[in-house]
Amino acid sequence: MSTLLVYLLERSTKALEGVHPFVASKAIELVNQAYANGINIAVVSGYRSFTEQAKLYGQGRTSYLYNGVQYGNPKLNRVTNAQPGYSMHNYGLAFDIAVFTEDRKAIWSGTSYDKVGRLGQALGLEWGGAWKTFVDKPHFQYTFGLRTAQLRAGVKPPGFVPVNQQMPPTNAVLYRLTTGTFATVQDVTAAMNRVKNQFQWVVYKTEEQTELGTRYRLATGTFAGKDDAEKAAQKLRDKFGWTVYVNLA
Ligand SMILES: [Zn+2]
Repeated sequence: MSTLLVYLLERSTKALEGVHPFVASKAIELVNQAYANGINIAVVSGYRSFTEQAKLYGQGRTSYLYNGVQYGNPKLNRVTNAQPGYSMHNYGLAFDIAVFTEDRKAIWSGTSYDKVGRLGQALGLEWGGAWKTFVDKPHFQYTFGLRTAQLRAGVKPPGFVPVNQQMPPTNAVLYRLTTGTFATVQDVTAAMNRVKNQFQWVVYKTEEQTELGTRYRLATGTFAGKDDAEKAAQKLRDKFGWTVYVNLA
């Protein structure tokens, strides 16, 4: 996988925290499809709490009180007409993308947005670029047929998972750990048993031919996201004193 695509997927996965798993999986699919079509995109915004929405709504407004707090900030540009509870972002059912150059700079306009919009629509997403009153080309949503009035009243979409109980999107970038080499099959087997006993992880052994003869490495199952993989690698280093590499799975 190219390092640029890895970057775009990692960035998207982070931004999709709190987004409904079905919508998040569509978003990751869109990033992959756009890349396959020569367009670099990443998700840059996903779930927003009501307070975060209040902050956004206050931008470009002299005064905006929400729960007794003043969020008005006339120095900034107006970015949204949706008050807290009136945006699909507040329910984890929407995300915004940005188009990026090869050197990872965001470009905020251009025909690429229209192409990505059509790809998103083909995936069954509703595209903000097709709206009549407030055209919002970076915006995509999937509402399960629900309106914000129903969501404000407490209706939950199917498969809804509260933000604090969520798993990363299933299509997140996967990593695997591998150790330095072991000299004998007995050594690597003993190492595998120690990892299994200590962490209950899935582990494998790999075999390779070197100038010194056959050598073995221990490899783990996959971890979703680089942060989790790095943490797991550090656990192995601390516990066993091994050299441990983090690789794309
Ligand atoms: Zn949006």
